[in-house]
Amino acid sequence: LSFIEVKEVSKQYRQRDQMTDALINISLSIEKGKFVSLIGPSGCGKSSLLRIIGGLVKQDCGEVNIGGMTPMEAQKRKQYSFVPQSPALFPWRTVLQNMQLPFEVNRKATGDTAKQHELELIELLQSVGLGDFIHAYPRMLSGGMQQRVGIARAFGSGAPILLMDEPFSALDELTREKISYQLLNIWQEHQKTVVFVTHNIREAVLLSDEVVIMSPRPGRIKKTISIDLPRP
Ligand code: ADP
Ligand code: ADP
Repeated sequence: LSFIEVKEVSKQYRQRDQMTDALINISLSIEKGKFVSLIGPSGCGKSSLLRIIGGLVKQDCGEVNIGGMTPMEAQKRKQYSFVPQSPALFPWRTVLQNMQLPFEVNRKATGDTAKQHELELIELLQSVGLGDFIHAYPRMLSGGMQQRVGIARAFGSGAPILLMDEPFSALDELTREKISYQLLNIWQEHQKTVVFVTHNIREAVLLSDEVVIMSPRPGRIKKTISIDLPRP
């Protein structure tokens, strides 16, 4: 059995007075440690699928299994870290203090303190080129740098599954490209399971072990492609 198993999942939303299909009969398995991209045009249901995997949205039918748990249970056991489109950094906390946040939030569940992980968090910041900005406040950083803090924080959080929803969409082309390489580097070091939503095919192919192509209206899986190319 794979680490993430999605089986015949469908989802409808109420729009105005009628129910519309967002996802129809989606099945997908993701092995531990893989980097998988969900790609497709806007509105094809990528975010919905990501949220269902993460237990933020409940499917109407079908099953989701996360290493033997339901998504809700997996969430309670701190299996996920989310990287949203723009990283939610607290402006009154330094970069390092923002990195420590997941440990404070999860302390009751895991017993880990941020202090125990400080060196590791600093190394992560160094690996995304922010070694000189550990004690800086977010407002002093560019958008690209803030995005890198968000990614480093997710990798440092201790959660085995990273769910990323178009994390680079607010960035210019060049910054995107640079951050993609940095993401790949830290992913290779930390071996997390990543589900990455994008509509950029280049990015998907560059980063992933597997690209899941979705077709819109309503969302179905059109094709799953394994990328066997060596990574850059
Ligand atoms: P994507 O991430 O690929 O853009 P989404 O999962 O966000 O796709 O959306 C898929 C479809 O479901 C779209 O048609 C969208 O309008 C609809 N949808 C998403 N969330 C909601 C919601 N909370 N209420 C109603 N419709 C929604
Ligand atoms: P990238 O993320 O691709 O490096 P950015 O737009 O984030 O692109 O920033 C480019 C570079 O400019 C950074 O790596 C950093 O060295 C420098 N830089 C950007 N903003 C600042 C800042 N507020 N203070 C100091 N250096 C900065």
